[in-house]
Amino acid sequence: MTSLTPLDEQLNRLIATVQDARPKDDISAITRAYLYAAQYHSGQIRASGEPYLMHPLAVAQILADMRMDAVSIVTGLLHDIVEDTTVSIADVQKGFGQEVANCVDGVTKLSKIDFFSAEDRQAESYRKMLLAMVDDIRVIIVKLADRLHNMRTLGVLSPERRERIAKETLEIYAPIAHRLGMGKVRGELEDLAFRYLDPQAYAEISQAIDSQRAANEEYLERMRRTVEDELRRQGVPARVDGRVKRAFSVYQKLKRQKISLEQVYDLFALRIITDSVKNCYGALGVMHNEWRPVPGRIKDFIAIPRPNLYQSLHTSVVGPEGKHVEIQIRTEEMHRIAEEGIAAHWKYKEGQRHAQDDQRIAWLRQLVEWQQDMRDPGDFSSTLKLDLYPEEVYCFTPKGRVITLPSGASPVDFAYAVHSQVGNNCVGAKVNGRIVQLKYALHNGDVVDILTQSGHVPSKDWLGWVKTSRARNKIKHVINANERERAIEIGQKYLEREARRLGVQLSRIQKTELERVAGEYGLSKIEDLYANLGYGKFSARQVLQKSAPEQISEEPPPPTVVEPPSQASRRDDDSVIKVHGVDDIMIYRAKCCNPIRGDTIVGYVTRGKGIAVHSRACTNVTNLMYDSERKIEVEWERTASDTFPVRIVVQTDDRPGLLHQLTTVLANENTNVRSLEAKTDFSSGNDAAFVEMTVDVRDKKQLEKLCGAMRRISGVRDVERSNQ
Ligand code: MN
Repeated sequence: MTSLTPLDEQLNRLIATVQDARPKDDISAITRAYLYAAQYHSGQIRASGEPYLMHPLAVAQILADMRMDAVSIVTGLLHDIVEDTTVSIADVQKGFGQEVANCVDGVTKLSKIDFFSAEDRQAESYRKMLLAMVDDIRVIIVKLADRLHNMRTLGVLSPERRERIAKETLEIYAPIAHRLGMGKVRGELEDLAFRYLDPQAYAEISQAIDSQRAANEEYLERMRRTVEDELRRQGVPARVDGRVKRAFSVYQKLKRQKISLEQVYDLFALRIITDSVKNCYGALGVMHNEWRPVPGRIKDFIAIPRPNLYQSLHTSVVGPEGKHVEIQIRTEEMHRIAEEGIAAHWKYKEGQRHAQDDQRIAWLRQLVEWQQDMRDPGDFSSTLKLDLYPEEVYCFTPKGRVITLPSGASPVDFAYAVHSQVGNNCVGAKVNGRIVQLKYALHNGDVVDILTQSGHVPSKDWLGWVKTSRARNKIKHVINANERERAIEIGQKYLEREARRLGVQLSRIQKTELERVAGEYGLSKIEDLYANLGYGKFSARQVLQKSAPEQISEEPPPPTVVEPPSQASRRDDDSVIKVHGVDDIMIYRAKCCNPIRGDTIVGYVTRGKGIAVHSRACTNVTNLMYDSERKIEVEWERTASDTFPVRIVVQTDDRPGLLHQLTTVLANENTNVRSLEAKTDFSSGNDAAFVEMTVDVRDKKQLEKLCGAMRRISGVRDVERSNQ
């Protein structure tokens, strides 16, 4: 007979537990998962010196004791396999199916989060983030089981690691267990964490509980018998337990009530468990009939359950010898939920499925303090999918501060959430060490490092995709201030220039006179007048005529070289040109050279009609730009995806089929053709044909590619961009 190893014994115990709790569950998957874990964790050792396999096996046992389903237990057995071995999620999926793979993946992701040293006010963000990262509640339950076993075996680690893990447990995991209503797990996690975080207080309280145990037990036993007798006489079926309070809850009571340990005498309490809600109230009546209730200590969590669905009646009575005794009264069902919380719902899944699912939904609704209606509760129950905080995303600064943002938020939102200066100076971002676009949509758990450059100002493009109103307002503020400054500058230059041209001596116009003109336009300051001139709202000539009518001849100004288009003919694609640091200025592409994206361009401040944008190669520009004061830098918007109509003239041999070849090239380039006209040139006498077309192109590069492709067609003699 071979003796069983500790591992074999553990496995047998696990299987026995599952068979007992959930006889219909598939044991073979659990055995397979065990063998799989044994194979891949083989040779790995825990800090305690035990084979590593002991850990997943213990986690699975905790889950089996909670009567969780086979998927959870298999996940428990495999929960560290992706993190610590060569096995991939795809391997797990192949071997154990999609559900298990999802759960293992979820647990693995949670393990990768480093909770740094969360400040208190940050802990809630961490907890929410953790829940937000999970889409199947079983992931959290497995993670809690994992943490519970790690806490039970924490003693072998270094003091620093112990403290870090214990703190994380107390701040993150115990509250999550509490929120999920898992009172038992929460209690054990808290006491274990307390033991490592404040060993002295823990020792004192534990000793006090132990030293009073004998006396208290005798006292409680007396009370318990009285209670049982009395309940039986009243026909209320019940079992009555004496209960030792947990060390951490006593500790909290000491802190809350600012009392010393000697002043706490109710380290023990009674719990009455009966069969119906009616009998809970019946039992309460019996208790109050027997002993005087302590005023203000009666709490009805049956009528008004706690957010985590905890239900019970609480009271304190003045028991024998005048001692205060705390009593909890609840049904078996309430007791199970108080102890196991959400895990209780996996127990009786078969046969009661419908009611269970409804209850689970109701549960989760309250549990997570749902802000909005669930999108499709039916869907939710069938997949056990969680989307607890669909509207939020949780990210970190490199130093570990959690930044909570609306979902879809970008690194720019993040930057402004950190500090408005960081937002204004933001020039780039690294997410998890990789450079990303500024409009990248952040994910839960992303570590975001904002790259800044002092003096940098936000771009107007950002307004197109930022998600937070904070970022939006700050960007607008900076842009408006900059634009206005720029418009004032342009307006002033424009007025000076126009004054020179018209022979008006601007220096002779009184400041008060300009103020009066500003007032005529409904403006309060000269600056506003300049700004409006800069924005092209009215012309400098008008202003000069109003302020110094005697100095201006009645002659109309000579026509400008560039004909500004009327507002109606102003094309939308002009919006893809940006004036350096300026916005809302009337801007249009000059017809004389029809610049397209990729062309080097320059802007020219026209008289009261905004800015004309020319190609630098345009012959008009050389004539215009002698007046360097009216020159202004412009650039193409980088992000716009508009197209520009361009006229192209192709000179070809006059032969059949050529037109078809040309249109094929256009089609291959996905170019929209606005018009196309073929003409034979009789005058040249060399069988030439001209094809004139107007096509939409994105930029110069595409245009050049297109022209190149056309030139390669045999028989094509010349391809020219034309602005005529
Ligand atoms: Mn683990």
